[in-house]
Amino acid sequence: MKFDLTPLLRPHIANLQPYTSARDEYTGKEGIFLDANENPYGSITDEDHNRYPDPYQLELKAEIAKIKNVKASQIFLGNGSDEAIDLLFRAFCNPGKDNVILLPPTYGMYEVSAGINDVETRKVPLTADFQLQPDLILNHVDEHTKIIFVCSPNNPSGNKVKREDILKLLTEFKGLVVVDEAYIDFSDEPSFTSYLGDYDNLVVMQTFSKAWGLASLRLGMAFAGKKMIKILNRIKPPYNISGLTQQTVLNAIKKVDKVNTMIADILQEREYLRKEISELDFVEKIHPSHANFLLIKIPNASHVYDDLIEEKIIVRNRSKVQLCEECLRISVGTRAENEALIQALKKIHAESFNL
Ligand SMILES: *Cc1c(COP(=O)(O)O)cnc(C)c1O
Repeated sequence: MKFDLTPLLRPHIANLQPYTSARDEYTGKEGIFLDANENPYGSITDEDHNRYPDPYQLELKAEIAKIKNVKASQIFLGNGSDEAIDLLFRAFCNPGKDNVILLPPTYGMYEVSAGINDVETRKVPLTADFQLQPDLILNHVDEHTKIIFVCSPNNPSGNKVKREDILKLLTEFKGLVVVDEAYIDFSDEPSFTSYLGDYDNLVVMQTFSKAWGLASLRLGMAFAGKKMIKILNRIKPPYNISGLTQQTVLNAIKKVDKVNTMIADILQEREYLRKEISELDFVEKIHPSHANFLLIKIPNASHVYDDLIEEKIIVRNRSKVQLCEECLRISVGTRAENEALIQALKKIHAESFNL
């Protein structure tokens, strides 16, 4: 499905003259650099941080391309996935005029970013088992609908979304379909990146924050066709990924085997946690999970949440969220952390009967 992205773009973005940094104009590594007003003596730390980093992170993208099986030209890197989400709003959604479609319960950042950019959100809830309603979604589309955000595996429910439903949106919707795969590393589901050559309106997002254990670095990936990547590159802050982050992740990618071991361990712990929680008779439901967390339904979830905090165990209270009533979202911890959680749940339950 080839289509022209330009009519979807906000007109002033299409005409924008981007900032050209010193590092854009001369890309060689050797030379006497008197072009960027840097400190020539070096930095006051042990590492060298005195030079501006590569604005397009080419070395890092070449390595990411290999492990993700995409072309380097199909990669955008952001200061977290959150930056990519925000840039999509800024590039495509005219404030006060355009709208996007959200599929609750889902990741909160889409709505926050829409709010910041003064963009209307149209909400089409998932079904009771957290799947899409593609026909209903398409019925909510009008000529001002620019983006549909799909999260798979979904946060906070943890399930994967049916591929054929996402493909239907990609085929029939004439705007962007963002498939947020922040949790794909914990799922046996293949990535939507394999469709990048087929759909110019597809944006797949992944992150180094979860499976890679690099949340503090803030590095998110958006995969899309070359034209989309060019648009994002035009409007991003020039040096949005620090040199420290680029170098750290380059080193991390060399240890991809270790990441795979950690993922296997987390999956094993997820099943341990599922088994232990399923033996607590007051737990009403544990939703299926393709992610590194479990969504559980439990009576008086908000009270249990507060009582867990008393025990210094912090989970995510989703009990006020549509379709997640009385639910807590629990990240998979280490064995010791998971055991502590189970003990605390047992204690809280026992105490609620002794009152
Ligand atoms: C955690 C998460 C992200 C990651 O965001 P970063 O900004 O890359 O840390 C993205 N999407 C979803 C659904 C998430 O849960």
